[in-house]
Amino acid sequence: PTVVPKPAIPAPAAWQQPTGATGEVQIHRVSKSFGALKVLDDISLTVPSGDVTVILGPSGSGKSTLLRSINHLEKVDSGFVTIDGDLLGYREKGDTLYELKEAEILKRRVDVGMVFQTFNLFPHLTVLENVIEAPVTVRRQSKAAATQDALALLARVGLSDKAHAYPRRLSGGQQQRVAIARALALKPKVLLFDEPTSALDPELVGEVLDVIRDLARSGTTMVIVTHEIGFAREVADTVVFMDSGRILEQGPPSQVFTAPKHARTAEFLAKVL
Ligand code: ADP
Ligand code: MG
Repeated sequence: PTVVPKPAIPAPAAWQQPTGATGEVQIHRVSKSFGALKVLDDISLTVPSGDVTVILGPSGSGKSTLLRSINHLEKVDSGFVTIDGDLLGYREKGDTLYELKEAEILKRRVDVGMVFQTFNLFPHLTVLENVIEAPVTVRRQSKAAATQDALALLARVGLSDKAHAYPRRLSGGQQQRVAIARALALKPKVLLFDEPTSALDPELVGEVLDVIRDLARSGTTMVIVTHEIGFAREVADTVVFMDSGRILEQGPPSQVFTAPKHARTAEFLAKVL
């Protein structure tokens, strides 16, 4: 594939400089339409390094599309995203951004780990094999080193005893914890979670939230889409409320949850609380 010019994207001159720590995400005036439907409408958002941002909003408001835009799984129509000041899907030349080839994007995407609602584990691989797959194939780690790291990660998510089990033998909560270990195995600068507990039976939600809470406390930069308001109140530095492809408001949980500025936020919270 050849490099595609993206002249509609604004000049990089406008970028803010990153703070110096790792994992800072800057979303800069991102818009995206599917046909006539504008799913992201001029979204700008900075997630400082080490911070946890929770995104809330009704179904269809663009939350998943925004997360997917951060690691270039979704190609935006205009705007761009940087991780520590680096573009993930483009290179810049003058005032123009050129889309990178897929192989190059894949290499850069290791900076951004993603955990989905459905766990997406490889069914034919054991838990350990699931976790070492990407480090070995994408990061070119040796199998021995990747295995050592993977065992430490499985201990961290409380699954040391399941290393040699196949995913179908695990509960949904255990599978999701494996998916988190697998995302961490690439040593990402940023972790994205898209409704990580929505597919779980209620009694399994807590064990997954415990792992995410542990990551939040250890200073991992994270963007989490969730409807778990109690959890959001506890771990979020910033809560963002999205509606119809726009950020209606953002602020610390103490403000957004107790004194939302926007009627739509209050209406949404009344439904999910
Ligand atoms: P949320 O995660 O907040 O529920 P999404 O980002 O998944 O919202 O979707 C936002 C809107 O974009 C929805 O109306 C959805 O139907 C639409 N959409 C998402 N992905 C696609 C796609 N690949 N093609 C067409 N429409 C899409
Ligand atoms: Mg979604």
